[in-house]
Amino acid sequence: MTAPAVDLRSDTVTRPTAGMRAAMAAAEVGDDVYAEDPTVTALQERVAGMLGFEAGLFVPSGSLGNQLGIRLLVPPGYELVCDTVAHVARAELGAAAVFSGITFRTWQAVGGRLDAEAVRALVAPDAGPYLVSTAAIAIENTHNFGGGVVQPPEQVAAVRALAAEHGLKLHLDGARLWNAHVASGLALRELAAGFDTVSVCLSKGLGAPVGSVLVSSADRIAQARVWRKRYGAGMRQVGILAAAGLYALDHHVQRLADDHARARRLAAALGGDPDAAPTNIVVLDVADAATVAAKAAAEGVLVSALGPRFLRLVTHLDVDDAGIDRAIEVLRPLVAAR
Ligand SMILES: *Cc1c(COP(=O)(O)O)cnc(C)c1O
Repeated sequence: MTAPAVDLRSDTVTRPTAGMRAAMAAAEVGDDVYAEDPTVTALQERVAGMLGFEAGLFVPSGSLGNQLGIRLLVPPGYELVCDTVAHVARAELGAAAVFSGITFRTWQAVGGRLDAEAVRALVAPDAGPYLVSTAAIAIENTHNFGGGVVQPPEQVAAVRALAAEHGLKLHLDGARLWNAHVASGLALRELAAGFDTVSVCLSKGLGAPVGSVLVSSADRIAQARVWRKRYGAGMRQVGILAAAGLYALDHHVQRLADDHARARRLAAALGGDPDAAPTNIVVLDVADAATVAAKAAAEGVLVSALGPRFLRLVTHLDVDDAGIDRAIEVLRPLVAAR
């Protein structure tokens, strides 16, 4: 048997651990469309509490969490502003336009980093009868295409103040908010404070097979529940999946620090600046990303080519120190050839 691949394409590729599978097998379940699944209810309450919100809703994907959040904040014909490479704008296949009648305008975020002045220059809260008015601002923390950057707290605070000043709503795409929490030492509640809706993923670094949670006020979550059903994502005995999420919250949050240390080590070995990999994502600028990815794959190291020169490597639960050593051994000569 050949050695298993070192899969650095994404932190979504993790498989449930033995402990997680045992928790799933033992989960108490009920019909969650009737709100009768005790494990789902426990997960929703737990995540809402951790983030400092009244209520939560378990959804099958982070994309749906984002889409339910922003549709509650932005009426049809209004705009959501976010950065040019935000997941909501770039990686959800136009869902906000298709399902909610929402348009976007975007600011340029250097390295994914939030700059409140760029947001201020863009928003048009009450644009009059001829221009599209802004209803909400979306921020991503950590920033995926920004290489896992943790948003500077003072910039987030400035955007919060801007939103309050103009009566704009705020959505947080917190797919990797856990990573921001562990890397910065800031409490989850602090990172989520002031947002109207927050979506967090259980299926990224936390290692659950499926699932995200949207948190907000009780009233908004009641509306999100209706929209979730309307979108066809009302799920039945789904406590079996929520149990994986609860297990991940118990066992896989603090260990994200290991992923962050491994990403730093990878970045230092391959690119030079470990500070450019503050959490679990390493971005490399190479001459020909597709060729590097193909050659590495032939040697059992999988990485993502996300643009002609843009390689992304993500550390996670299923890559240990030996895997990082192997990745460095394979990638170093390929990256050096640029
Ligand atoms: C992964 C991700 C999502 C959600 O992705 P799904 O694949 O729909 O679960 C949302 N935002 C960011 C920043 C992500 O990285």
